[in-house]
Amino acid sequence: MTRDPRYDVLFEPVRIGPLTARNRFYQVPHCSGMGRAWPQALAAMRAMKAAGGWAVVNTEYCSIHPSSDDTPYPYASLWDAGDVRANARMTEAVHDQGALAGVELWHGGNYVGNLASREPPIDIMSLPSRTDPVQSRVLYKDDIRALRRWHSDAAKRAVEAGFDLVYVYATHAYLLDHFLSPVSNQRTDEYGGSLENRVRILRELLIETREAIGPDRALAVRFTAANLGGKGAPTEELREMLSILGPLADIWDLVVDDYTLEMGSSRFVEEGAQESYLAGLRQLLGKPVVGVGRFTSPDTMVGMVKRGVLDFIGAARPSIADPFLPRKIEEGRLEEIRECIGCNICYASNSRGNPIRCTQNPTMGEEWRSGWHPEQIEPAGSKDSILVVGAGPAGLEAAVALARRGYAVTLAEASDTLGGRVTRESRLPGLAAWGRVRDHRLELMKGLPNLQVYPASRMSAADVLGFGAPVVALATGAAWRRDGIGRLHRAPQPGFDSAAVLTPDDLMSPEVPDLPPGPVVIYDDDRYYMAAVLAEKLALGGRAVTLVTTGGTAAAWAYFTEELDRTNARLLSLGVTLRTSSAVVSFDGAGAEVSCLFSDRREVLAAVGLVTVTARSPEDLLYRQLIQNPAALRDSGIRLLQRVGDCLAPALIAHAVHAGHRFARELDASKPWDAARRELAAP
Ligand code: ADP
Ligand code: SF4
Repeated sequence: MTRDPRYDVLFEPVRIGPLTARNRFYQVPHCSGMGRAWPQALAAMRAMKAAGGWAVVNTEYCSIHPSSDDTPYPYASLWDAGDVRANARMTEAVHDQGALAGVELWHGGNYVGNLASREPPIDIMSLPSRTDPVQSRVLYKDDIRALRRWHSDAAKRAVEAGFDLVYVYATHAYLLDHFLSPVSNQRTDEYGGSLENRVRILRELLIETREAIGPDRALAVRFTAANLGGKGAPTEELREMLSILGPLADIWDLVVDDYTLEMGSSRFVEEGAQESYLAGLRQLLGKPVVGVGRFTSPDTMVGMVKRGVLDFIGAARPSIADPFLPRKIEEGRLEEIRECIGCNICYASNSRGNPIRCTQNPTMGEEWRSGWHPEQIEPAGSKDSILVVGAGPAGLEAAVALARRGYAVTLAEASDTLGGRVTRESRLPGLAAWGRVRDHRLELMKGLPNLQVYPASRMSAADVLGFGAPVVALATGAAWRRDGIGRLHRAPQPGFDSAAVLTPDDLMSPEVPDLPPGPVVIYDDDRYYMAAVLAEKLALGGRAVTLVTTGGTAAAWAYFTEELDRTNARLLSLGVTLRTSSAVVSFDGAGAEVSCLFSDRREVLAAVGLVTVTARSPEDLLYRQLIQNPAALRDSGIRLLQRVGDCLAPALIAHAVHAGHRFARELDASKPWDAARRELAAP
């Protein structure tokens, strides 16, 4: 296949100062949960993007000095020779695939707690860190001189490590941002006050970084294009700063100062949502501009270039979901693109401090540890046919990956629609993009004649035994509990067996059970998106809703996916009443008894219905029936019977996809899966 000439513009080489990028696809700096702790895994992950056609591949935020230590988050660092060696693994691997490698030099200011280095954080004021009871010390002039020296030294180490682009990172509420802002910069010396004074440090760093990296490397800046949060410099001032500083850098990486928009989840933010903030800046700067927008549509990308908004299509998430996105566009294989669903599970890896994972791309983060390639898979290790029962994310992924290996695969699904939970959930408010998990796999199936799919085929134990496949994967999923058992309650709660107690499965089913008119209580002990999304659905349907959660806020875990603020804002705007750090302990059809987790003070809230969002039970009846009779199992010729995904252990969609993929990879594999494979940071 060849590419559509409409997309030619995306494959034009573009100059970045002394360098030439081979096309317009640019992986902006993004967290990986690997950083300094997993240098080999990181190198393999970034190199995969280079192999997939990205012209520029950057690190995550890379600390210049121990006074910028974001422990326990796994940031990158360039503090010493050991860091140079660790980062060189990435630059070499990226260069081997023909891409340019960039590093985002970073100082966190008061944002960080320096929990490992135990240096006092530094900033223009003495302010508390983001999460810890630690305050920064104030930077005086000799400290600013030291800061400039650290930055230059780190830039020299970046060159030693082989980076082609070196960033000065001047946004996202880190140290340099504080200098720029008239709100946070209250200094009375030459680094505070007038706009010229506030940009002084950035100007100095740009000039000195340029000196440090020499004429053969490019200088990049990450900078705020618009003030949305009110804390930074006003947007008009930012424009003025850009016109002053523009000539000093080779490329400008522009963001808005609101993470919940810049990397907003698809529940709240559309593709290309930053365009209005970036318009006109490229002309103002006279330098190449890169910006992000969860771009997965080549038409949208072309529009961005043709309208003169961007020179480079910046991507974090689309490059995570599909490292081969540029190649697929280039080769006219658009239908194979694994589109990001905007769930932000990748970002949660950084928030939780674990190596990156992705809902759509099960190979993300497994490039080094497991040797998984997103586009290649080992051929079948036997001639056995395979039965996969259940076409949720686990079953779909297992079936497709096994068929790609060449096995003869049958996929049997009880319902008449495929997709399991992603199909059900994609009908809820804001979750439509989650259907992409199903759609991508259905698309791949079209090219796999050795995969037979049977919807509306509920398999009994006798069906499985009589089917004749030596390998059987049970991907039969999980069902939401009705009895209140979850993190908090270990036994069913009184009255939860009432017909007016509904689960998320009830509310997602095509025929939602009827409740009389009146208020509804949602009891959330899951603490992620489900309870909030159901509250939204019920409130939009005109119900008075109280969300009772054992968490400290609604959707507490959504903090890790950067969805907390917008989730709570939306619930409040819909008039949903929130009751945090509380549990529902009984229900009688007219009221839900709520207990405060700290005081056990109780109160009955009027409720004609109770929705329980607590935990899920594996749907493993079929498995239990099959193992009940080992002789029948043996006689059937089944050599491997395995539960996969939620049917084994309910978790995120990302876990189910990974589990399905892992099952497919492990079957008759030449190399076993090795969960114990770790690495130590470079000495
Ligand atoms: P996972 O997230 O692990 O993929 P899901 O709950 O999304 O799990 O999907 C499980 C799928 O399995 C559902 O579509 C369900 O209809 C199907 N299923 C459950 N039991 C059977 C069965 N006995 N035969 C065929 N399909 C089944
Ligand atoms: Fe996109 Fe979700 Fe994958 Fe992140 S985890 S890249 S948001 S699909």
